[in-house]
Amino acid sequence: LCLQTIRSFDLILKDKNGVLTTQFDAKPSIIIADAFHIGNVLFNLLDNAIKYSAENPKIELITYSDRKGIYLEIKDQGIGISDKDKKQIFDKFYRVTKGDLHDVKGYGLGLNYSKTMVHLHKGWIKLKNNTPHGSIFTIFLPFKP
Ligand code: ATP
Ligand code: MG
Repeated sequence: LCLQTIRSFDLILKDKNGVLTTQFDAKPSIIIADAFHIGNVLFNLLDNAIKYSAENPKIELITYSDRKGIYLEIKDQGIGISDKDKKQIFDKFYRVTKGDLHDVKGYGLGLNYSKTMVHLHKGWIKLKNNTPHGSIFTIFLPFKP
């Protein structure tokens, strides 16, 4: 599913001179999930990672697992998200109001949809800062929903 979703960004990454690297450390395992919606969640997070990186986006997609489930991590080195905005970023229609950023079009729906879908799978989604700049979104999906 990850590889399939990444393919949607081949052209845009080429156009923006970006790179997307992957590291699949999750053990072979079965997750019971709606592939359509989880694919859309991955799409939204990758889309944001690229959209909110000024130029030459450097994105990483990492998977790992433990006894409880699987973790998907999307890391970017983009414009980052302030502590104030972190509290609201998953709210419906919420977009960060920052002059230069808002050349980027969007509805403020992608993260709200992603959170809803991941919660419906009894998982969670979290946001951390990347160092020295950018964001890391982690999705957890449990083995037993
Ligand atoms: P769309 O509904 O088309 O996805 P959107 O990208 O504006 O529109 P969300 O994906 O919900 O909406 O994101 C909400 C806001 O969070 C964005 O407008 C942006 O300001 C901020 N944001 C999301 N992802 C990132 C990121 N990786 N880096 C920096 N800011 C981000
Ligand atoms: Mg979005």
